[in-house]
Amino acid sequence: MQKIAVFPGSFDPVTIGHESIVLRAIPLFDKIVVAVGVNADKAGFFPVEQRVEWLKKVFENYPSVEIKTYEGLTVEFCKKNNIGFILRGLRTSADFEFERSIGQINKQLYPEIENVFLLTTPEHTALNSSIVRDIIRNNGDATPFVPKQVKFP
Ligand code: ADP
Repeated sequence: MQKIAVFPGSFDPVTIGHESIVLRAIPLFDKIVVAVGVNADKAGFFPVEQRVEWLKKVFENYPSVEIKTYEGLTVEFCKKNNIGFILRGLRTSADFEFERSIGQINKQLYPEIENVFLLTTPEHTALNSSIVRDIIRNNGDATPFVPKQVKFP
């Protein structure tokens, strides 16, 4: 059976931290679905279409990486798409506590799923999409924090 993982998130926008986790996970799985969670009640900072377009560009040279959007529960998306692994990055102990509860609940909802966590590399530990959004809102230069394919309008 194919080993398929989902890397779920908002990716608003994708950062070099996200990029690094996916690149490191490529050798571990036959396929990785980077899945942009869409919340009908929450628009986000960048439009979903823009976030997807950036992700497609970032991973265009990696045939085992696919970009999708989904609504609703991550485990339902996994069931529908034959996905057996949920991939997440761990930056801090706060991430760990957050991921532990979601991961344990997801496992209860869908016992066939396994959660796989990769520790963030030290240089990416302080980085998150909300910092990037703050820099952009305040007219700063966010380019060091996003993959080179991401060009802000
Ligand atoms: P969410 O909306 O679930 O917080 P994000 O888009 O922020 O989604 O993150 C998606 C995944 O990427 C999460 O597993 C998160 O831990 C991981 N991640 C976010 N930022 C980094 C980073 N700087 N380094 C490594 N992993 C990261």
